[in-house]
Amino acid sequence: MKRGLAALPAARLDGQRALVRVDFNVPLKDGVVGDDTRLRAAIPTIRYLHEKGARVVLLSHLGRPKGGPDPQFSLKPVVRPLELLLGMPVAFIGEPLSEAAVTFTRRMPRGSVALAENTRFAPGEEENDPTLARGFAALGDLFVNDAFGAAHRAHASTEAIAHLLKPAVAGFLMERELCYLGSALEQPKRPFLAVLGGAKVSGKIDLIEHLLPRVDAILIGGAMACTFFKAMGLGVGRSLVEDDRVELAGRLLEKAGDKLVLPRGCVIAPELREGITSLTVRREKVPAGFAVYDIDPGTAGDYAERIVVAGTVLWNGPMGVFEVPPFDSGTRMIASAMAEATTHGAVTVVGGGDSAAAVARFGVADQVTHVSTGGGASLEFLEGKVLPGVAALDDA
Ligand code: ADP
Ligand code: MG
Repeated sequence: MKRGLAALPAARLDGQRALVRVDFNVPLKDGVVGDDTRLRAAIPTIRYLHEKGARVVLLSHLGRPKGGPDPQFSLKPVVRPLELLLGMPVAFIGEPLSEAAVTFTRRMPRGSVALAENTRFAPGEEENDPTLARGFAALGDLFVNDAFGAAHRAHASTEAIAHLLKPAVAGFLMERELCYLGSALEQPKRPFLAVLGGAKVSGKIDLIEHLLPRVDAILIGGAMACTFFKAMGLGVGRSLVEDDRVELAGRLLEKAGDKLVLPRGCVIAPELREGITSLTVRREKVPAGFAVYDIDPGTAGDYAERIVVAGTVLWNGPMGVFEVPPFDSGTRMIASAMAEATTHGAVTVVGGGDSAAAVARFGVADQVTHVSTGGGASLEFLEGKVLPGVAALDDA
């Protein structure tokens, strides 16, 4: 367990400069924030610090600037949307490593908020350079990490800094992620189901291996299923298959026994095109020239029935190409089942960037227990890996 922000006494916050690593790695289109989910997710921590009278200095990366400042990746466009969400002004610190920036943070009024420019503009960020971390640390009197989505990388603003600036505690978003991806799944209410899909098996093998001994069943969908079909000796036509993983898929099937559940049928088409006429077939009947783009309604119904009576459900990876109707229906049925399970008291957790986009698209994002904001970080955490940005924080 890591020390949380709420564990700090009021005197440790009042008038102090709280340096908060957030994950404001938002999509930008022509200098406009496309999706503000990540900004919203950081609000509870910022507001709490504001109310406790801290001077709040926010640090984040954005995109992948190559080795120096690049206006295309400036965090400046985030200021206005953040001001609107917080209902208060947000100052911008354009050169966080300057003496002027340090002076600025010391003169900020109690309870005010400032956002520093992209951490990746500074050489050494991605190398976890302690000298750079010392530069960032000069902007605060304590460190709060709320950037779960960046915690799987040991960078100067996520890892090295947490050793230099104390106390170093977890923000509310970070705590929520650790709770629902961690303890909720370690001591799950049963039955505990995992629903796994998405494009590739290769990215999710460690996840399957880690989950198998913990869950009651893993329900498989997505293109991932096709690699398993091939391992079972079935024809998969032109479906997305990872030929170099077929053998491994076969070994997983053997090891997992009944725990690994595969679709009984699929929705197929000769090509991926919106509105194209699709066919529903049994999994043994995928003809050459066709590809699998979704699980069939029968399988989706079976999966939904199991989900609504489960105690805990972890979902990672869409069941089909949900971005292109009519191949969205399997994923949509799983999303509704997740929402229904939640009303029955199940703990329902969604991890993975595309899966989060799917539950948002189907309007159930606020009807499940938790939607993780960290794509790669959630996956690594669910695989049982240690996240360096978390490990470096103070123990509770
Ligand atoms: P997440 O980001 O939730 O971890 P992934 O990145 O693993 O999910 O996979 C998401 C992608 O998988 C989606 O863009 C979806 O279109 C694709 N996908 C799902 N099923 C299929 C399929 N049968 N054929 C091709 N692509 C698929
Ligand atoms: Mg993805």
